[in-house]
Order: sequence, then structure tokens, then C-alpha cells
Amino acid sequence: MRRRFVMLSVLALVLSLTPVVAAGASVNSCDTRVNNTYKKLLECVTLDGAREHQAAFQTIADANGGIRTSGTPGYDDSVAYVVEKLNAAGLNVMVQPFDFQTFITLSPTVLEQVAPPPVGPVVNRTMSYSGSGDVTAAVSTVSPITGCNAGDFAGFPSGNIALISRGACTFALKATNAYNAGAAAVIIYNNIPGQLNGTLGNSFTLNIGVTGVTQDVGQQLAATPGLVMRLKTETFRGVATTYNVIAETPWGNPNNVVMVGAHLDSVNAGPGIQDNGSGSAAILEVAENMAKTKGVNKVRFAWWGAEESGLVGSTFYVNNLSQAQQDKIALYLNFDMIGSPNHVFFVYDGDDSDAVGAGPGPAGSAQIEKLFETYYANTNNSWKGTDFSGRSDYGPFIAVGIPSGGLFTGAEGIKTDAEAAIWGGTAGDQYDPCYHLACDTYDNINLSAFDTNTDAVAFSTLTYAFSTYPVNGVPGKHVPGAPSGGSGNGSAAGYPGGDSSGLHDDEPVAE
Ligand SMILES: [Zn+2]
Repeated sequence: MRRRFVMLSVLALVLSLTPVVAAGASVNSCDTRVNNTYKKLLECVTLDGAREHQAAFQTIADANGGIRTSGTPGYDDSVAYVVEKLNAAGLNVMVQPFDFQTFITLSPTVLEQVAPPPVGPVVNRTMSYSGSGDVTAAVSTVSPITGCNAGDFAGFPSGNIALISRGACTFALKATNAYNAGAAAVIIYNNIPGQLNGTLGNSFTLNIGVTGVTQDVGQQLAATPGLVMRLKTETFRGVATTYNVIAETPWGNPNNVVMVGAHLDSVNAGPGIQDNGSGSAAILEVAENMAKTKGVNKVRFAWWGAEESGLVGSTFYVNNLSQAQQDKIALYLNFDMIGSPNHVFFVYDGDDSDAVGAGPGPAGSAQIEKLFETYYANTNNSWKGTDFSGRSDYGPFIAVGIPSGGLFTGAEGIKTDAEAAIWGGTAGDQYDPCYHLACDTYDNINLSAFDTNTDAVAFSTLTYAFSTYPVNGVPGKHVPGAPSGGSGNGSAAGYPGGDSSGLHDDEPVAE
């Protein structure tokens, strides 16, 4: 051990001298060189680089109770990490704070049987907007009555834990009646099979722990004489402050801005390294390597806060732009979950060619979809449309008419046999079996899919940095070195080895 340490120290010393000894070589390093061609940019935007950022997000989660939820220190540390990397790369960085209404479990809820034996933990799920507490007490069953009337609690022993069945009224009303009768905590059990995953609603402010269990567990507990249980909940509910991170290239036309976004927050249940550490890491890797690329248009990268609370950060951002500022955004690209373990290469359906769900995106969205399709075609991958379902941060941009697009590799949806035949993986399983769970860790990834899509982020961002003409008619330039002309489909874009350029064939070329 010791000897190895000495050798490494010597090596470190040699390496630290290298830039001085070989100053010429450092010009070509990705930290310093100008990535103004597809080839150069894709040499520097690597899977390893993106994985480094995902590893950092995992380390941050590990140090903060396993979560990176907006309003918690794990999110704030994620913001600090991204900001540090962006500053080091030379982008113009702005951190935009905003307040939002939220509910967060600050530590795992503990529900355990204390007596009689067998004692031990009981599977449960904290009700959203539960209060905090740590109560060990006898359990009184409010049954077969549902607890919807104050009278259901007549004679309830004050200080006991109330056990109540779901049904007939809101969870909040049951919990309120129990609280008013002197209950110290509340367990509500399902009235149908399956885990009870309930909410008390954000107007519930009583400081009492409330959790849910299955019908089986609830009936078993109700039938246990002399039952004593412990319920410990540690929660935050109310208004929290969180942040968007916005970073712009110092170069480029500020009146024709290309926006590239990914949400940075995780759900409360886990570290969120795929959802959305994948998109966050990929756009950070691209931003770092495009800081010196002098394109035609300004590129503005965004890491959104509180997406998982209802697109709060992106909505706040868009709503705080003036009409003139909105008009300067040429297009928006969204990357939310782009390395799902059981992936499909989905492209947002800008032209509604799939004719399912929401209609087409704003004019120009079809051309964005086409660009990604061209990328996949030129890299010998298959792709499939996915609806603008409103489930990610493109929503507020589409709502104000900004052309949008992006990639997605699947969440809780189930892979079909036909999809497995094309992309491999497991038919009948979720695209991401760890979606919104504690197992969404550094290992929850399909490396090859993530690599392909990280390159797609680089490719699309560089293309639009030079020209958004096919999308909004604003003239640009060819990406240097890219062959012009080509497929003639009007919106195809070139790729190393590809045969066409990012420009419309009829595009006036500005020099
Ligand atoms: Zn997401």
C-alpha cells in the first residue's frame, strides 16, 4: 500500500508538469480547444465525461439521505456542482431562485410493530402532507366505520394510534377527525388490493403522522389484540426555495437563442441518476465542450428545478420572460430520461404523425423531430415517435408557441415484443424498472443508449448553434466542415459519415 502510494505521488508530479513541458499539446485538449465541427465536438463529448457527472450526482445523493429533491440539500449540492463546472468552462451562468409549495419526506418513515410478537417493521407509504412525529402507542381500530364523522371516534382513547380503512371520504377528513379525538398518529389501510399511496392535500396542516398500508396488512393489524406500534415521520410541507441554473454561451446572436434543457431534481424516493441525471449530465457535458465554439446563435442551457413537483422551474422561467424575450428563443430541446436500462429511442412527435394524444407542437417542431430522426438514421439506429404528453419541461415552451423537441428512452411504460425485437432488452418489463424508485442509481442505465443519446444532444445543439433556419427561417451557416446539400428533404442534417447538412437546401448563407 505504502509503496504504491509513493509511486503514484511521483506520477502525479510528472503529470502536473506535463502542461508546462508540452504546452503545444494542451492546445488540442478538450479543455482549451474550440469545438466548431461535428468531429471535434464529438471527440470531446464522451460517455466517460457524462458518466463522471452522473457519478457526482450519485455521490451528492449518498451524502444527503439518498435524494436530490428540490428543496433539499441534495438538490442544492447538485446546483453547486453544475454551476462550478459551467463557470470553469467559461459560460455565463445565472442561478434563478423561486419558491414553490412542496411536501418532502426528510427521512424514511418508520412503522413497526412493537407488541405483541412478531415485532418488526411494517411496509407502509407516508401520506403526502403528513406531519412529523415519533409515537409509540396502543392502536385503536376505527372499524367497520370509516372515520368520516367525528362521532365515529366516540370513546377513542386519547394518545392512541388510529387504524382506519380507506373509503367514503378523503384521507384528510379521516385524519382530522382522528386528531380531534386525540389520536397521536394515523394508519390508513387500503380497501382494495395494492399499496396505498395517498395524499392529504396541501391544505392539511395538522402536525400528526399519517401513513398508508395495504388492505391485507391493515386487516391483519386490526385483528391483532394488544397491538402497540411505532410511527415515526419526518417531513417538510410548505413553501421551499429552489433554483433553475441557466448558462449561456458568451458568443452568438442573442436575438435567436437555442435553448437546451433538462431537469436537475429527483423525486423524493431516490437519487434520480437516470431521471434525470442522464439528461442533466449529457447537457452539462455538451455545455462544457461548446463554451468556446463560436456558432451563429447564442446557446442557452437550462437545468430546471422542481420538475417533479409539476414543471415548476421551467414554468417559472417561461412565465417570467417578456413577450420580446420569448420571441428571441428560436427553439427548445428537452432531454429527460435518455439512458433508460430497457430503452427505446423515442423522439418527441413534433408533427403529430403518430396521431395519438396531444396534437403537433408549435410550427417548427416537426423539423426538430426530423433532425433527431436523421441523426438516428445516420448512426444506424431505429427510432419511434412519442407524444408531447405534457409530462416534462417542454410543456411551458410549447404553451407559448416555442418550437420544441427532444429525446426520451422510456419511464414506467412497458416494452412491447415489437420494441424488444428492434432495440433488444426485455419485453413485458418497464423501460425503466427503477423509475421514481430508490434503485434509480448510477447503475440504472443502458450505457450504449446513453452514449448514443449524449452524442445526439451534442449533434443537435451544434447544428442549431449554427442554423435554426429549417425551424424558424432565420438564416445561419453550415457547421464548418459539414458537407452541404445532400438528402434534399429540407431539414436533414449532416453527421460525420452522413451525407447532408444542417441547412435547408434553399437557405441563404450568411457569412
Ligand atoms: Zn424526469
